[in-house]
Amino acid sequence: MGSQLNRPTVLIVDDESINKDMLIHTLQDEFDILTASSGAEALELAEHELPDTILLDILMPDMNGYEVCHELRTNPATKDIPIIFSTSKCSPDDEVRGLNMGAADYVTKPYNMALVKARVRNQVLLKLKTDLLEQMVNIDGLTKIPNRRYFDDTFEQEWRRAIRNQYPISIGMFDIDSFKPYNDNYGHVAGDDCLARVAVALSSQARRAGDFVARYGGEEFVFVWPNCPEKKALDLADRVRKAVMKIALPHEYSSVDSIVTVSGGVASIYPQKDSKRIDLLQEADKNLYRSKKAGKNRVSNSNGEILAE
Ligand code: GH3
Ligand code: MG
Ligand code: MG
Repeated sequence: MGSQLNRPTVLIVDDESINKDMLIHTLQDEFDILTASSGAEALELAEHELPDTILLDILMPDMNGYEVCHELRTNPATKDIPIIFSTSKCSPDDEVRGLNMGAADYVTKPYNMALVKARVRNQVLLKLKTDLLEQMVNIDGLTKIPNRRYFDDTFEQEWRRAIRNQYPISIGMFDIDSFKPYNDNYGHVAGDDCLARVAVALSSQARRAGDFVARYGGEEFVFVWPNCPEKKALDLADRVRKAVMKIALPHEYSSVDSIVTVSGGVASIYPQKDSKRIDLLQEADKNLYRSKKAGKNRVSNSNGEILAE
């Protein structure tokens, strides 16, 4: 996002600088502005900057606005960005064509600047609301990290990517040790607070692009490490375990230590078309159980390797 605090960003796409200049002049007091002079440049910018609305000229050399619109709609990263077509020739047929392609609105040249501004503002507001809703359905209310729903969706996407690119994918299941006695002795409010703090510590360990941790259920968390082989996964899991120890939350009633700890199980696979995600989850869960049985506050993989202090 832009230079001023959280101002929405609008991408203006037009091959003629006079049009761009007029639009910049009108919109810059309210929005951060990005500009592109061609379809290719627009696609590149849209994907990297994720503007909140795109004002898109239809008549451009090389790649016209309809083609750009189609590409934006096909790319998962840009498919929800509102597009306002900007055009001088606009029969009802043209307009229908654009709206059917998923454009949100139209502005016509010569511009009525008040109208342009009002239309852009409407789309930006709608986009911000959509973003908020999207966030709400994917974030766990208590811990503020991705929830089970986000995990299910994103794990599926990463799994498919791993099949396409033929690289391994690893997961790590973690469970807080002796959490029932924590709740029973400190109370549920303290239990909730503990979960939130552990979640912060876990999140700090999702470092590489594509890595993430989600709340899987009650006091269970799951990491996804795309393009990560088995050997590396156990090391990553052990770093996660240590990160939780580092916050040193007192737990006098733990059977393991005087602070809150977690146990983990990892599992890795080079997924093929017929491999099942549930099998990998079950394998990680089995290894988590292995860590619990071996004394908790440790991490295990399917080769029977266990890391603990
Ligand atoms: P182990 O060391 O083997 O993992 O044992 P444990 O006591 O951690 O495990 P158990 O599965 O018996 O207990 C999990 C507890 O987590 C029970 C449940 O009340 C608590 N819990 C689950 N979700 C929440 C939550 O959202 N808030 C709070 N405060 N507690 C929760
Ligand atoms: Mg537990
Ligand atoms: Mg549990």
